[in-house]
Amino acid sequence: MKVRFAPSPTGYLHIGSARTALFNWLYARHSGGKFILRIEDTDLERSKAEFLDEILDSLKWLGLDWDTELIHQSKRLDIYRKYAKKLLDEGLAYEAEGEIRSKDGSVTKDSKRITQKAVIFKVQPGKIIKINDLVHGPIEINTDTIKDQVVIKSDGFPTYNFACVVDDAEMQITHVIRGDDHISNTPKQILFYEALGFNLPEFGHVPLILGSDRSRMSKRHGATSIREYREQGYLPQAMVNFIALLGWSPGKDREVLPIDEIIKEFDIKNAKSVNAVFDIEKLNWMNGQYINKFDNQELLDLLMPELKSRGWISDQTNKDWLLKVTGLFKERARTLVDFFDWSGYVFTDEIKYEEQAIKKRIKKEGVADILRSASERLTALKDFTAVSIEGACRELADELKIKAADIIHPVRVAVSGRMMGPGLFELLEVLGRDKVLKRLEQVKKLV
Ligand code: GLU
Repeated sequence: MKVRFAPSPTGYLHIGSARTALFNWLYARHSGGKFILRIEDTDLERSKAEFLDEILDSLKWLGLDWDTELIHQSKRLDIYRKYAKKLLDEGLAYEAEGEIRSKDGSVTKDSKRITQKAVIFKVQPGKIIKINDLVHGPIEINTDTIKDQVVIKSDGFPTYNFACVVDDAEMQITHVIRGDDHISNTPKQILFYEALGFNLPEFGHVPLILGSDRSRMSKRHGATSIREYREQGYLPQAMVNFIALLGWSPGKDREVLPIDEIIKEFDIKNAKSVNAVFDIEKLNWMNGQYINKFDNQELLDLLMPELKSRGWISDQTNKDWLLKVTGLFKERARTLVDFFDWSGYVFTDEIKYEEQAIKKRIKKEGVADILRSASERLTALKDFTAVSIEGACRELADELKIKAADIIHPVRVAVSGRMMGPGLFELLEVLGRDKVLKRLEQVKKLV
């Protein structure tokens, strides 16, 4: 059993392509087969080294390892030409004056610039091509609807359909799994298989990924490349789990599954034949589940590079303290970026007071007194731990005959500028007494 992922390096790795790569990889790992990576770089103008690097980086980041050396179609031109010649020799193809596109885009018939004639495959009309698609079931196409097919273009490069067939056959690919957008190419490719006397692989076409408005997922719906999700603080484990569920399901309402489990359960025959809808809320939820499953040390390791590059910590920063802060913000964070957005005031003295928070929690009668008393109690505490801080706050609330929340809310805004955040007593402990007292003083200007 052998499958392949065959990206064209003409753009970043798109969610849809990542799903194709993942389904092939899962199927190979499930069946103990091989997963091949083939770079379809015969479109010289659109293929870029930068895109190839990014595609490889994204695949590695997702953990989709391939089993052989990379194959580049651009290094196999002689092979495609050999098979094209075979078609010509057998009278199955003919040559035609080619057209060459000049740099400005117009089509010229300048004979001096034509390096060679294009090779065109003759399509016999009136034949029915039958495909038993692994995902969609039986499909039939009449060759009357297919025009003669270019095999080698006048620039000497093969067309996608031809190179794809030659490679899939030579590499003995057993299952061709790719996006629905290639369904119309498959009958054309089958004609090439038959003409060249190759065995047919099985074909499986996976439905499109749609945005929330049910139109094909595009930039309009948000980030489309794996690279962007990586930059936005999503975890590769969550991404893989989420993408696996775009068009496949392990059943029994299971959603968060370790990769070993997904491999065990995955079968391309169970891929859904209806389009999948990309739901960013679900991705956020799933990413949060993965973040929560990490222990504090694992999560801190992921956060460390960014914490350093923001200048929020140094090599001297206390490790235990960092682990506490990580644990504190872990619970509600759905992406790594959430962590940075929410925890900045712990690492720096820059506080952005939310307008609502000031209005609702600070500019109120009695708050100035409450903050002053809280300050006194916190100053007097022997040790500044979450437990002792909580004791002091509850005691003060009893004495003032108010609810603990009447203290907690304004103190939270004073130290963080925000309405929401982690448990206040733990938060005060990690901030430390000096910072807390300074901030209680500072917020008085806003009362
Ligand atoms: N290079 C093609 C693409 O990126 C590959 C399609 C296929 O898997 O056959 O769409």
